[in-house]
Amino acid sequence: MCMKFSELILNWYDENKRNLPWRLTKDPYKIWISEIILQQTRIAQGTSYYNRFISRFPTLESLANSDENDVLLMWQGLGYYSRARNLLFSAKHIHNDLGSKFPVTYSEIIKLKGVGDYTASAIASICFEEQTPVLDGNVYRVLSRIFELENPINLSSSRKIFKEKAKSLMSAKRCGDYNQALMDFGSLVCKPQKPLCGSCNVSKLCKSFINNTVLKYPVKTSKNKIKTQYHDYIILTKDRKTLIVKIEDGIWKNLYRFPVCISEKKQSKLYLQEYFKKKYNSSKVKISLINQKFINHKLSHLTLKSRFWNINIENNVAKGLFVSDFTDFPMPQLMRNFREKYKTKLSIF
Ligand code: SF4
Repeated sequence: MCMKFSELILNWYDENKRNLPWRLTKDPYKIWISEIILQQTRIAQGTSYYNRFISRFPTLESLANSDENDVLLMWQGLGYYSRARNLLFSAKHIHNDLGSKFPVTYSEIIKLKGVGDYTASAIASICFEEQTPVLDGNVYRVLSRIFELENPINLSSSRKIFKEKAKSLMSAKRCGDYNQALMDFGSLVCKPQKPLCGSCNVSKLCKSFINNTVLKYPVKTSKNKIKTQYHDYIILTKDRKTLIVKIEDGIWKNLYRFPVCISEKKQSKLYLQEYFKKKYNSSKVKISLINQKFINHKLSHLTLKSRFWNINIENNVAKGLFVSDFTDFPMPQLMRNFREKYKTKLSIF
């Protein structure tokens, strides 16, 4: 069955593979960039980010010689900004410490900062034909359906089982194609909802299809509760400039945003006035709400509920930057979206 499965999946890939720009190269630098971008976005959006990123930083050296602000600007909107920072860190490491020679084995590639099992497996198999299976949501789904694997895919203890299964099925040749074939097959044929079983060329091997249990798979345990966080941003203007501050840590580290009060619960106007009064050491602070409804922003582990407030402060504010043009400042998408929505209503931008 093993050979048969890999043959079928490679045959399907040869006829149906998507034409994507990173499939025209085996350059590990470009494959690395594409894999990191695609971890957090759909193919269509990821392709335009990839093209922009590669045209701005066409080689590992060009990325290694750039500064963080430039890289974050190119990454703006993709989220997970630590990935961009890690890309830069690792590019500098390869350039400065490894003589610009990209590592060529899974065990060396995975040592790069920001590179996990998935990315190391993808680069090693696609660029160097190493027999290292990748596991993403598509692969989990396909394998769990074909073999009726009951192990919940969101438990780390299941990982080893799926990894071994994927490896046992992997062809010794065309390892990179095999990995990409499984992922493409999962996203185009064995889809989460409404899989195309009727036209599927591996259906005769697929246990869940034979037993009519397809939609039972993949198995998941109930999810951890996603937390909610309340963000109250203030829009402070002076001479047609708006105050922004650099974020010191967390997922948005080194990006910029409006000053904020972050809480685990919804805060009252009075509380916020006192908070900013204290923060800016002011005798008087007045705030007024700009968006009546919370703007929700979903992250993988957190829902952010945000409000934006106009503010009047009596004294001068020393911390932060007053800017009239945000173009050179990487900002979380939440800030950009707010600006887009309210820029005509507000005379601050
Ligand atoms: Fe997926 Fe259906 Fe094909 Fe089985 S028969 S692999 S469930 S598309």
